[in-house]
Amino acid sequence: MNMLKSIRVLLVEDEIGDARLVQIGLRQPHSASFDVICVDTLSKAQQQLAQQPFDVVLLDLSLPDSSGLDTVRMIKKTNRGVAIIVLTGQYDTEFALNTLEAGAADYLVKGEFSPDSLIRAIRYAMQRVEMDAHNRLLVAALEAAANSIVITDKEGYIEWANPSFCKSSGYDLQDVLNKRPAELIKSGLQDQGFYEAMWKTILKGDTWRGEIINRRKNGELYHEELSISPVRNEAGEINHFIGIKEDITERKRMEEELQRLARTDSLTGLFNRRVFLEHLEQETARLARLDSAPIALLMLDLDHFKRINDTYGHAAGDEVLRHFADLIRANVRSIDLPARLGGEEFAIILPGADRTDALAMAERLRMQVAAAILPHAKGQISYTVSIGVAALSATNANSEIALHHADSALYTAKSKGRNQTCWFSR
Ligand SMILES: [Mg+2]
Repeated sequence: MNMLKSIRVLLVEDEIGDARLVQIGLRQPHSASFDVICVDTLSKAQQQLAQQPFDVVLLDLSLPDSSGLDTVRMIKKTNRGVAIIVLTGQYDTEFALNTLEAGAADYLVKGEFSPDSLIRAIRYAMQRVEMDAHNRLLVAALEAAANSIVITDKEGYIEWANPSFCKSSGYDLQDVLNKRPAELIKSGLQDQGFYEAMWKTILKGDTWRGEIINRRKNGELYHEELSISPVRNEAGEINHFIGIKEDITERKRMEEELQRLARTDSLTGLFNRRVFLEHLEQETARLARLDSAPIALLMLDLDHFKRINDTYGHAAGDEVLRHFADLIRANVRSIDLPARLGGEEFAIILPGADRTDALAMAERLRMQVAAAILPHAKGQISYTVSIGVAALSATNANSEIALHHADSALYTAKSKGRNQTCWFSR
């Protein structure tokens, strides 16, 4: 409130004596000055309010053209931002409370207030209207927030939630009030310890932050980033919690997609060279440590792939690579790790496969490739593959040696005329 500016008062009072008392009271020297305009009917008051802004309306409730609470409501309806102080002749607590309900900021009983209490009432009323406007602004901001916001009591029962919460959870506001979030959106994917740690943190008075998977009303799971802060009353006791949640389902999905892209070859969808080398390293380390079942390693290279590209174009070359990747996928077990190392070079790790298993798998694949025919505008495309197979055991569990062995077996297959499978031997 600006103390230097005079306070604009509209006095609505039809009894001249009462009006004069108020005017005299406000004319005395005070910390603020008052510009008072006095009218004697509700319609004149409405005219004044339409013409210029007022800070306060001092309102008699028995006017020639209006009486009772409707007088307050009429003024409030068209002038939300003005503070109304009712001047009443009757002292009746219930009636007085009703005037507040109807929109008055305060009331004074005629003949019972001093100039000082009048001025104090004006100041409080103006502050209250200002705070109400401020609160309305805050609520509007919370309601417009993209984040879900939930206010609970100290037992966790929801007292208020914003539209974003209702939208992401799928529940109407009426469904969520006086319920605990756990009754509504708990997915069951976090264990009891998770919630215990959360409650321990917030009951201690600290803010809890974390990620949580919840369930919408329609059963769908969603990821949320959540912070819960305790709110204390004047006595310092926790009486509310405020939860602010951000739906990060889309972000999670994109993170997973990026992870997948970082691990796969975009053309064929097989694992890329980096993932292949990591796995080979892990498998050989495990073999060396546990002396477990052997591992076979296949190196595969499409024969004369350059010719396919030169004859049919790169699109056809890509088609052949994808076709080969599909055949690999159809022939591997879920524990195998097929990868495209680059160009027309592929590799497969076969955990637990001995020489017989590995050669059988390689030959099956080689023959399927040789039998395949891909239709193309310039004629049918067929292609072949050469495969080198090497085994790792606990005694030679080294990824570099394994790669070298499989590579040299592949070289043998190529040099023997291609379209064949060779087993590495010294
Ligand atoms: Mg009157």
